[in-house]
Amino acid sequence: EGMTIIELAKRAGESIPVLQEILVNVGEKVESEFDPLSIDIAELVAMEVGINVRRLHSNEGAEVLPRPAVVTVMGHVDHGKTSLLDALRQTSVAAKEAGGITQHLGAFIVGMPSGASITFLDTPGHAAFSAMRARGAAVTDIVVLVVAADDGVMPQTLEAVSHAKAANVPIVVAVNKCDKPAADPERVKLQLASEGLLLEEMGGDVQVVEVSAVKKTGLDILEEALLLQAEMMDLKARIDGPAQAYVVEARLDRGRGPLATAIVKAGTLVCGQHVVVGSEWGRIRAVRDVVGKLTEKATPAMPIEIEGLKGLPMAGDDIIVVDSEERARMLSEGRKKKFEKNRLRKISEGATDSLEPSDELSRRIEMPMIVKADVQGTVQAVTDALKTLNSPQVFVNVVHVGVGPISQSDVELAKACGAYIVGFNVKSPSSSISMAATQASVKIVQHRVIYHLLEEIGSLIVDKAPGTS
Ligand code: GDP
Repeated sequence: EGMTIIELAKRAGESIPVLQEILVNVGEKVESEFDPLSIDIAELVAMEVGINVRRLHSNEGAEVLPRPAVVTVMGHVDHGKTSLLDALRQTSVAAKEAGGITQHLGAFIVGMPSGASITFLDTPGHAAFSAMRARGAAVTDIVVLVVAADDGVMPQTLEAVSHAKAANVPIVVAVNKCDKPAADPERVKLQLASEGLLLEEMGGDVQVVEVSAVKKTGLDILEEALLLQAEMMDLKARIDGPAQAYVVEARLDRGRGPLATAIVKAGTLVCGQHVVVGSEWGRIRAVRDVVGKLTEKATPAMPIEIEGLKGLPMAGDDIIVVDSEERARMLSEGRKKKFEKNRLRKISEGATDSLEPSDELSRRIEMPMIVKADVQGTVQAVTDALKTLNSPQVFVNVVHVGVGPISQSDVELAKACGAYIVGFNVKSPSSSISMAATQASVKIVQHRVIYHLLEEIGSLIVDKAPGTS
């Protein structure tokens, strides 16, 4: 009942030779393109080319069940991300169990009175989110945007909004430090609204919750808001079948070797299975849950720590299950080779999240852009001008705009979403920023005349999408 390589190629929108190369990498001989592949192999190949495994499984009538949301906390420095995570962690399952919090796992679960739960990634900030996205790991379902009520919207607040928007992840706003005398939550809301966030109380769908991480007020309301957001998103995952998971953190333990904290996206990860993790591999020797208890298996949105990998993976690496040690090793070797070859290509194409290959619109080539200009008016003019380049083949997606010179964080965001940076009427970036951009294969385009800018972007589009001129 397996698929042939021809069918698989059609589904994945990939050429047959590309798939054949992957098959060779996993040590599979293909006698004929018409021979059906085993489900395992087909799935392995499918995962390698980034098509949704659930789709393959749903054909077999696999059960798809609701799963908890995975939440990341972002916001401006000192606005209270760490404090908020600390406060939320104290309401977590681990904190409530006897013995309290055993170890830092990189994620924790908050159980709700209704029986539902929320999984929080325990690393605040944009770097973690970017690192994951740069590797194509769509782990986060919801972003909690922390804004200090006394300080208001700041540059990194806007950056976080851009990150979330670029990743298509909804935001729930936590207006923090509401205990402070200088707190002015209403001002924060107006600022956010003027930045284009459609707040619920103004008729939009972005929820805003007033909290104090220090006084621990509003935390239950925030958790309820997250649950509501999750319900609206109708998050579901396949429970049965091979796991697909992501690494959120990894470290080397002197006694136990490489340890990876992971979150299962779909399926069930079972102790003893052979896995390929990014370009590493191993056999899962032990699985621990958030309280450090040994467990046999892990289901979607459950944070776990796995032991038994041969090397140290990186945050954002995917974990897939294969059926033998030999296959795990081969796939890992193949990936090491392939990763190196594809590294640059991938970055320049951008880490877009699971596109439906059959979807007409998704064939439109996306050109993510970050626009930096000297004044607000120019930012708008440049953005509008870039949008005139849109066509049925090309979608110019301005993921972030700002006034001022090109910064290090612009480069990071660009790297994370494969964007070009457009500088208009701004001074040239410093050599360290230029170097960082080169290293990350981020292209910076600088001009002082709109016509010249459009000309250069136009030719970039033609390079990327031949036949669109
Ligand atoms: P991060 O940089 O966003 O992780 O911010 P931190 O969590 O480190 O907090 C920065 C500072 O703000 C620390 O001194 C915290 O004690 C303080 N802080 C955080 N949350 C609150 C709050 O709800 N109320 C008050 N008054 N101070 C807070």
